[in-house]
Amino acid sequence: MSRDYLRTKYLIIGAGLTGLSTAFHLNDDYILIETSGSPGGTASTLHFKGFKLDNAVHIFYFKDPTILNWIIDTLNVELLETIRKSSVWINNAYVKYPVQYHLAELHWPQRINSMRSILNSSSNKKGINSSDNFETYSLSAFGNQLTDIFVRPYNEKLFGVPMALLNTDWLGDYIPNYSRMKMLLSVLGIKNNNYGRNSKFYYPLEGGVSTVAQKLSSQLKTSPLYNCILEKVFYDKKYALLSDGTEVKYEYLINTIPLDSFLNNFDSLPSDILASLKLLKRNSTTLLHILGKGKIKKEEHWIYIPDPTIPFYRITIPGNINPANCPADRFALTLEFGGNIYENQSVLDKSIAILKSMGILNENNSDIEFCWKLINCSYVIYDENRKIALKKIFPFLQRNQIWSIGRYGSWEYSNMEDAILYGRKVAEQIIKQN
Ligand SMILES: Cc1cc2nc3c(=O)[nH]c(=O)nc-3n(C[C@H](O)[C@H](O)[C@H](O)COP(=O)(O)OP(=O)(O)OC[C@H]3O[C@@H](n4cnc5c(N)ncnc54)[C@H](O)[C@@H]3O)c2cc1C
Repeated sequence: MSRDYLRTKYLIIGAGLTGLSTAFHLNDDYILIETSGSPGGTASTLHFKGFKLDNAVHIFYFKDPTILNWIIDTLNVELLETIRKSSVWINNAYVKYPVQYHLAELHWPQRINSMRSILNSSSNKKGINSSDNFETYSLSAFGNQLTDIFVRPYNEKLFGVPMALLNTDWLGDYIPNYSRMKMLLSVLGIKNNNYGRNSKFYYPLEGGVSTVAQKLSSQLKTSPLYNCILEKVFYDKKYALLSDGTEVKYEYLINTIPLDSFLNNFDSLPSDILASLKLLKRNSTTLLHILGKGKIKKEEHWIYIPDPTIPFYRITIPGNINPANCPADRFALTLEFGGNIYENQSVLDKSIAILKSMGILNENNSDIEFCWKLINCSYVIYDENRKIALKKIFPFLQRNQIWSIGRYGSWEYSNMEDAILYGRKVAEQIIKQN
């Protein structure tokens, strides 16, 4: 069979925000391939009957103002700036998020127990002890009551593993340091809404979150090759085989697809890398979009559901994040489930009954329809094996002039801003080397 051959300096795999940002900052001499028919990857939006449906909550928040300004000024994306409204469903009632600073909203026994267990918790220390696993960390930072009613059940639903198996490497800004004093004061009703890095967030005025990827893609010198899948990597000869049969000879390879899938595409791997690859674990997430006529009488942008008897762990209300996400007099809800429960009818029936009992769906909601989506790789599992595996895998990739970056390429828990930063940083590093 005759094959087409291409040559490029940089071959980039995946046109999510990381791959797009890498191409933008490299500027030239690259080929960017993408398995789907449009840019954005995890940060893309489903346009359906006038609805704009993201993969659950997909909002921007920034630690680096240059990225915010770049999105506004260079990509020309108009952004809404919004103060977060979020709550947690605990004991059949809504408690404002973060629960840790709204303890007065818990029922009396839980309020008292929270206070007691915070006072008894072992930690007056600031920060995270490196010997902690996630469970011991949570018990010492929040006490056993908050761990039992919120931290453990929520995270076990999301990650699909017992919390004691997780280490604390991923916490960083995701679970910021809560002040013991402020938690205790919140028992008296002194609350603190604006805590955590997404307490103020940004979201495109039009088109859903994918507007950012669309605009970024439209500014690239060379458009991504869509519907094109990476099939094989021959790393020692520096070429890759694509699904259309093309062979691409590259100098530098930049990967943004999940690290395990990427390595599984290698024609051969040294035995220690093969063994490390087997240690990587991830979870999938199933989304259920529920659409219909009428309004939702809740103001939250999203609601956390730790209750282990309820199958979903979070509800997003897209029309509250941006009213333009729903046609007039229509509502949308997005439920997130840990693992693969795609098109599971009994889970769907149970979920609808629960939404009614929570007062979210009501008699004004009609013409309801459903739309499922499976995100195959959504959260990597931060167990002890992850560290051991990555210590072997990344030096091997580096030796072969391969960069594996972004949330899934780096095998980490990071966000859209990080994705854009990754692309910029790697492009700068590679250009400097030349
Ligand atoms: C449920 C959920 C909610 C989130 N909410 C937020 C949030 O509110 N705020 C925030 O900042 N971040 C959020 N994130 C994280 C954010 O989505 C990611 O950090 C970011 O989108 C990662 O971009 P990426 O380009 O690194 O990866 P991806 O977006 O996954 O891009 C990888 C691309 O590679 C393509 N691809 C896969 N296999 C192949 C192949 N073999 N060949 C060619 N192409 C391939 C994929 O189609 C995809 O387009 C959330 C993530 C999830 C899962």
